[in-house]
Amino acid sequence: MSANAEVVLARAVTAVPVAADFTVVERAMPCPTDGEILVRVLYQSLDPYIGSRLRGKHMGEPAPAPGGSLPGFSVGDVVESRHPGFAPGDRVVGECGWTRFGVMAGAAARKVDPALSASAHLGVLGMPGLTAWAGVTQLAKVREGDVFLVDAAAGSVGGAAGQIARNLGAHVVGIAGGAEKCALVRDTYGFDACIDYKAPDWIDAVKAACGDGPTVHFENVGLSVLSPVMPLLKTYARVVLCGLADQYHSDGPPPALALGPIVGKRAQVLGLVVYDFYPRQAEWVALAAPWLAQGKLTHVEDVANGLENAGAQFEKLMRGQNLGKTLVRVQ
Ligand code: NAP
Repeated sequence: MSANAEVVLARAVTAVPVAADFTVVERAMPCPTDGEILVRVLYQSLDPYIGSRLRGKHMGEPAPAPGGSLPGFSVGDVVESRHPGFAPGDRVVGECGWTRFGVMAGAAARKVDPALSASAHLGVLGMPGLTAWAGVTQLAKVREGDVFLVDAAAGSVGGAAGQIARNLGAHVVGIAGGAEKCALVRDTYGFDACIDYKAPDWIDAVKAACGDGPTVHFENVGLSVLSPVMPLLKTYARVVLCGLADQYHSDGPPPALALGPIVGKRAQVLGLVVYDFYPRQAEWVALAAPWLAQGKLTHVEDVANGLENAGAQFEKLMRGQNLGKTLVRVQ
């Protein structure tokens, strides 16, 4: 691979993204202009929302054109700065395409602590961890005695959400796809239980694991889980709607949620968009970094090596086959 290279779309994406939608192209070393920084990228973050972005189906943001830069956060080290807030050697998180060397707008880049794991700034200490913290502490306001249920529990958001809830005194139950993911959630993340939704009678197992019923449900997947969970909720439960992974790529009208159980349960349904909490990232990192050091918060990463494997790694995420935070080690 040449000194600089970038992953771009090989063609317009019209269905669930697959490896063949991506290609690696050689790039000249970019030059920052006023207000910009040149960054040597260490890790690229791959996240479910990027799949929707590639199809122009995320928050009204346009799809990138074939050959153009891709969305998503990178972490790396500043090589050259033309922004007064950054100096060579600073470690930063921001967007510069899926590339080895990229230019970030200084105004949109965030300095991070180089003493902490670089890749963690894209996962548990980054946007997914902040999402979990926001949903658990700011929306659901989890407290001692809550029964906390979360799906996609082996993933970056779900795994952190359950551990935060546990650290706040909740009884924590996960839902995840397959025995390997459930073992990770129980044995490594330390949830009280984890139920494999691919097993028969899984919803009965969720019911049994949740005692009198979940007082908080954190939804990462969509109606395929939420609909059977709703009747199990304890009265006055809080439901955080964080992700809809099972419908990001379904075409046609979205499936409808039955409203009766929300009324019957007097449930609060709380929509979450992490953008609202970006100004509070430092607050989360100040809580999470000591928890990581003390073993009260554990994160697992699913890392591919090299940008040439980014497309296949992204396809793996789109298939739900990732185990933990999905990343590409760039260099
Ligand atoms: P992740 O959990 O690592 O990966 C997504 C997981 O969703 C998969 O591993 C899979 O786990 C599950 N899944 C269920 N049905 C799926 C399907 N049809 N296709 C693909 N995956 C499916 O991802 P994450 O980054 O931690 O994010 C979790 C959720 O939070 C996502 O829905 C994401 O979009 C959302 N999110 C929302 C915000 C916000 O601001 N609201 C911010 C960040 C993330 P199982 O095999 O266990 O089902």
